[in-house]
Amino acid sequence: MFTFYQRSAGELSPFFLAIKNERKILGCKCSNCGLVRVPPMMTHCPDCEFAPTKILEVGQVGKMLSTPPITYFATSMFADKAPFGRGRIILEGADTALSVMLYTTTGILVPGLIKKGTQVKVVFRDERVGQISDIYCLPASELTKEQAAKKGLLESEINWEAPKEPAFPKPTEKDKDNFKHSVKEMQALAVKMSQSKRARRAIEGWKRNIAVKTKAGEFAMAIDNGDFIIEEKKMASPDFVMACEDPKTLLDGLMYKGSITDSVIMKKLWISKNLEFNTIFKLDRLARFLVMEQKEKKSK
Ligand SMILES: [Zn+2]
Repeated sequence: MFTFYQRSAGELSPFFLAIKNERKILGCKCSNCGLVRVPPMMTHCPDCEFAPTKILEVGQVGKMLSTPPITYFATSMFADKAPFGRGRIILEGADTALSVMLYTTTGILVPGLIKKGTQVKVVFRDERVGQISDIYCLPASELTKEQAAKKGLLESEINWEAPKEPAFPKPTEKDKDNFKHSVKEMQALAVKMSQSKRARRAIEGWKRNIAVKTKAGEFAMAIDNGDFIIEEKKMASPDFVMACEDPKTLLDGLMYKGSITDSVIMKKLWISKNLEFNTIFKLDRLARFLVMEQKEKKSK
């Protein structure tokens, strides 16, 4: 949220200029009570009869003050940034909490990854405009020691391409049968979806190659501007990876029995790239649109 007043004042304040130009986080120290506030009260302490404050730099590692909520469906202003956590952190050297966005390099941001007390590190976007969204935090445990210690760490210095896929136990014969059966059903559904005018609209203009890994095998899903194709093969360089122990999780979602989105949030389905949550959302629409068209045909 923002008001025009905050935004115009924000871009010109030393706090935002320091983020934008120097990759520093500024706070202020009260000359009377000694409290260090971040973001700073630029001139006077509101608690000490307006005693003067001094601007100083604080650390870029901090601890979560509480467990942050996660936004999966953002307003249009933040749609390109979701899903993200939003929480308050106490940076080293500060006494008050700063509100920041939170991400992970391990795939999709799910509940439990960042909790109260988790140590987090400030990361600066490469292109900064002088707003609070110029920075966000990652769990410090996902970074190298050097990165965690470095001030002014840039987004482009972080390895986003090696998220850890979940490991599954060895499949039984029953699991293998289940896999074959589920893939066949999904293929049949995909053919129907590709033939449905309405369903095609759900993935119009979208193109993604997805490798799906399950306990008993791997298959490929391709979204190509309305066409939806499922093949039992390994995909060499997918746009992202999905992993779910039981392929039925995905089959149910495509059959419109519960949503795939929920499976992601409930940690039944893992995806390798946070921002591909968008694609998951489109797959849910694909399933919904097909069911809607079938219902309409029936009622005619
Ligand atoms: Zn004070």
